[in-house]
Amino acid sequence: MATAGTDRRILVTGASTGIGEKTVRRLADQGYRVVAAARRRERLEALAQAHSSVEAYPLDITSDEDVAALAEHLSSTGGLDGVVNNAGGALGLDRVEDGDVDGWRWMYELNVLGTLRVTKAMLPLLRAAEGGDIVVVTSTAAYEPYEGGAGYTGVKHAERMLSTTLRQEIVGEPIRIIEVAPGAVATEEFSLTRFSGDAERAKKVYEGYQPLHGEDVAESIEWALGRPEHVNVDLMVVRPRDQASSSKIAKKGA
Ligand code: NAP
Repeated sequence: MATAGTDRRILVTGASTGIGEKTVRRLADQGYRVVAAARRRERLEALAQAHSSVEAYPLDITSDEDVAALAEHLSSTGGLDGVVNNAGGALGLDRVEDGDVDGWRWMYELNVLGTLRVTKAMLPLLRAAEGGDIVVVTSTAAYEPYEGGAGYTGVKHAERMLSTTLRQEIVGEPIRIIEVAPGAVATEEFSLTRFSGDAERAKKVYEGYQPLHGEDVAESIEWALGRPEHVNVDLMVVRPRDQASSSKIAKKGA
């Protein structure tokens, strides 16, 4: 397995904005070759324009065909050394009794089955490379319940189980499974998506305290990837200092 800064090729999903975009930029700046994947082609192409070592690859991770075509493309263009499973998101903040079945299904399709689909498709490439890394961006929601959060905490718990189970199943192979679990990160779209475009409500999520920036998480991912190859950073929980749990945030004026 090649080590950090030695031209490793890393796939980042959810690369068009937020944590994924910052991760692409950070890895490219550190000498990695990066395949930036998400649905919005023009945003990925802007990233590729800005960084010569970034390749734009538009796809929908909920599509079997798209992910199979990506694996084929990577296989025929030099293979892969690592994947950052970052694409994901939340929808709604409803109590369980009001839970929207379609919204929960959307979250499961994207966060859990999307990560499963990509991970399954990339494993043979990492094996062919005789080593590699699988990063999964979960959340502190993978560890704690909070009121209104069951749909999202449920899928993030499931993503965490995918990661921890896979680590047990493939131990002995030269593949690291790295979970990064952020607390509140003020990205442009995460809360907008959660609240179906309600900008006022989305803005309030980050008011009265200093949330993380996408760069903070990108830096954590890059650090974990850069450890010597015998070192597996199983889990990094990265929160804002003012956040003690998903529902306990020290907000000024609150
Ligand atoms: P974001 O800003 O909403 O970005 C989500 C990314 O996923 C976008 O690039 C989006 O791009 C992509 N995506 C969505 N559906 C997709 C699909 N079907 N196929 C391919 N790509 C898809 O989210 P973020 O805040 O950066 O969060 C990134 C990850 O961190 C998520 O897994 C999230 O659950 C987790 N996380 C976020 C926070 C937070 O507070 N922000 C905290 C903890 C964990 P396209 O629309 O172009 O496809």
